[in-house]
Amino acid sequence: MKLSGTDKPSAFFLYHLMWEALDWIYPPYCGGCGQFGNRWCETCQSSAENLPAEICPICGNPQPGGTVCHRCTDEPPAFRQLRSVFIFKGPVRNAIHRLKYDRDMGLGESLSKHLIDLAKSLNWPLERVTTVPLSNAHLIERGYNQSNLLARPLALALQIPFIPQAIKRTRETRSQVGLSAKERDINVREAFWANANLVKNKTVVVIDDVTTTGSTIRACASALHAAGALSVYGLTLARAVLQDFSNNPADDAHQPGEVTASHLPIF
Ligand SMILES: [Zn+2]
Ligand SMILES: [Zn+2]
Repeated sequence: MKLSGTDKPSAFFLYHLMWEALDWIYPPYCGGCGQFGNRWCETCQSSAENLPAEICPICGNPQPGGTVCHRCTDEPPAFRQLRSVFIFKGPVRNAIHRLKYDRDMGLGESLSKHLIDLAKSLNWPLERVTTVPLSNAHLIERGYNQSNLLARPLALALQIPFIPQAIKRTRETRSQVGLSAKERDINVREAFWANANLVKNKTVVVIDDVTTTGSTIRACASALHAAGALSVYGLTLARAVLQDFSNNPADDAHQPGEVTASHLPIF
């Protein structure tokens, strides 16, 4: 994001500068390891694990041979593709929990650079950026939607509008923890509504911090299509893959209780 000649500073650059300035006032601790001095340190970045190369071309879940998985074959999702940057473990899990529960807002800007890199490499024909909405109860309790902190800098970097109000929840859903993929689908089915005025005839990407089975983004994609969206893509910072899922399910439905801060370093 260097400026040269008569270039005007971009909105993304100014957003980045704002967080840099806040770092001077409130020096940060790393969201992954707790070390003082960086919001997201080099060590944590290099130890964060990416998804394997062989994934389902639709839902992005690890899949030997890179073939379409059974779930996408049996029940094709309304989204075109869903992709994630990291496996939900280690420093990535710590950072997401800190972003979500510890009001570490600046961490969103640091982590978003990975989403931006992935989005640019995928080259999807995106026109709008939106996020999975929190339930009203969680929005009141938390005060912010952590996915918006990832999505806003992404939209600024891609220079397309960010419309966080595009999807609303129509009902509360129970925690997805402990549910099978099928049960998760049922739990969030028709739990969302999308605003046609904002998404009609647009290609929309839905951002979330972490996904497990993709059920929530499936449900959001269905709502967007019902509102006339042209096509829908999904992008998450992390994904809980099978080996993690049995022990440490991710918060696919944004409910508290399934994750605790007990495994986090003490900051
Ligand atoms: Zn670190
Ligand atoms: Zn699939």
